Amino acid sequence: MVRVRFAPSPTGYLHVGAARTALFNWLFARHEKGIFILRIEDTDVARSSEEMSQAILEGLRWLGLDWDEGPIFQSQRLAIYQERAEWLLAHGRAYECFCLPEEIEARKKEVEARGAVWKYDRFCLRLTPEEKAKRRAEGRKRAIRFLVPPGRTQFRDLVHGLISIDNRQLEDFVLLRSDGLPTYHLSVVVDDLASRITHVIRGDDHISNTPKQILLYEAFGASPPEFAHLPLILGPDRKKLSKRHGVTSLLHYRDQGILPLAMFNFLAQMSWSPGPEERIYSIEEMIENFSLSKISKNSPIFDLNKLQWLNSRLIKEMKTEQLLTWLKPEMEKAGLWQASLQTERREWFSRLLDLVKVRSRNLRELIDGLKPFLTDNYEIDPVGYEKYLKDERLPDLLSRLREDFENLSEFVAPAIEKALRQRAEKEGVQAALFIHALRVLTLGRTVSPGIFEVLELLGKEKTLRRLDLKAALSRLAPDSPQVQNGQKSELQG
Ligand code: GLU
Repeated sequence: MVRVRFAPSPTGYLHVGAARTALFNWLFARHEKGIFILRIEDTDVARSSEEMSQAILEGLRWLGLDWDEGPIFQSQRLAIYQERAEWLLAHGRAYECFCLPEEIEARKKEVEARGAVWKYDRFCLRLTPEEKAKRRAEGRKRAIRFLVPPGRTQFRDLVHGLISIDNRQLEDFVLLRSDGLPTYHLSVVVDDLASRITHVIRGDDHISNTPKQILLYEAFGASPPEFAHLPLILGPDRKKLSKRHGVTSLLHYRDQGILPLAMFNFLAQMSWSPGPEERIYSIEEMIENFSLSKISKNSPIFDLNKLQWLNSRLIKEMKTEQLLTWLKPEMEKAGLWQASLQTERREWFSRLLDLVKVRSRNLRELIDGLKPFLTDNYEIDPVGYEKYLKDERLPDLLSRLREDFENLSEFVAPAIEKALRQRAEKEGVQAALFIHALRVLTLGRTVSPGIFEVLELLGKEKTLRRLDLKAALSRLAPDSPQVQNGQKSELQG
């Protein structure tokens, strides 16, 4: 049975690259009907925090990745790593090292001054029992180093193919530090063995660690798992993805109104494609189609436009009920949720959503678009006010249009449109004069879905109330971001 793990170090938030590693492990486990294990690699006590661990779990849950075992916390397993290091020592596969960092540094400098490449010189491998005893008596603490055997180490990576290295290139790496804490190599192999991991799927920044870990498996008398190293994500300039390219924290995108399924698709489509078309795939489709052998070894590019595109596409495709899973909590936070939206006003709300979602790239834009329909407490874009509400003819024109609207027995889009166009004709003005003014008055913005449908959904009473230039003045948003950076409404499609 396939058993995989995601093993983040809680030294920072959940990075999008790590989230993608988790996602590939999860897809593989679900495809193979295997087990997905979560392990928190928190042995670096100084840099790890409980808060970061919790944020990682939150990020995984948001994406929809559930784990079957764990979380296993490495910090709770220190005695096991110590025991395993002692075992290697007792079996001649490791040795004690008493060198102080400054002693190593001095010897390294000497070697490098000769133009040679430094690796640990096995100074302590040659110590006699007496020399060791002397060092202990001096109060020196020992580390435990792995004794790299001669030969070559190779493995067939499921993404990168055959990787082979001469063991002479490896140094006798530390397994257990002098403070008793394990190094990454020891804890990762001990835990992968304990968890009976069959496939290690991780970022290809770990390729160079793999030969050392394979040697450790052999020293423990175990056969190593399969390895699949995922190409690292690059920024659009083809340099390693970093903060320069945009925010790399997964949950930032949740806070920006990205839907988890859009993020899931975005991450899954980096180095792998669930199918021939660029579109939103369901989780079930992705599970079904997933295969490690189809992962490309080329580095994918982190393209925020694609994420936005996937997200707006998903918002448009989602049915009201699905969308509400994500939208409702956000509406509650914004104080816009009313229970009647799912009962008496359900049909109306569904129509409203269909109208507004077409122009929304994320949940925040969607909420912005819904707001003027759900509350009278909306703001008016000062740019729109200046541009469309200052015409001197407007007060008279609007009061006549108001009467026309008032007289409509059915306040529906075609009737509203007809009344407006007739009024424009009678007054000898362009219909656009009314349309622009109505948009700003009723929604506060200069771009919106079709105004006649907007008015129908807003309803007669609200529409009439909003045809009021004086009230509009009091609604002006003084510090509107649209004014600050001179941009148009965020809602534009
Ligand atoms: N804690 C390591 C990391 O976050 C895990 C590496 C591995 O999967 O072996 O990079």
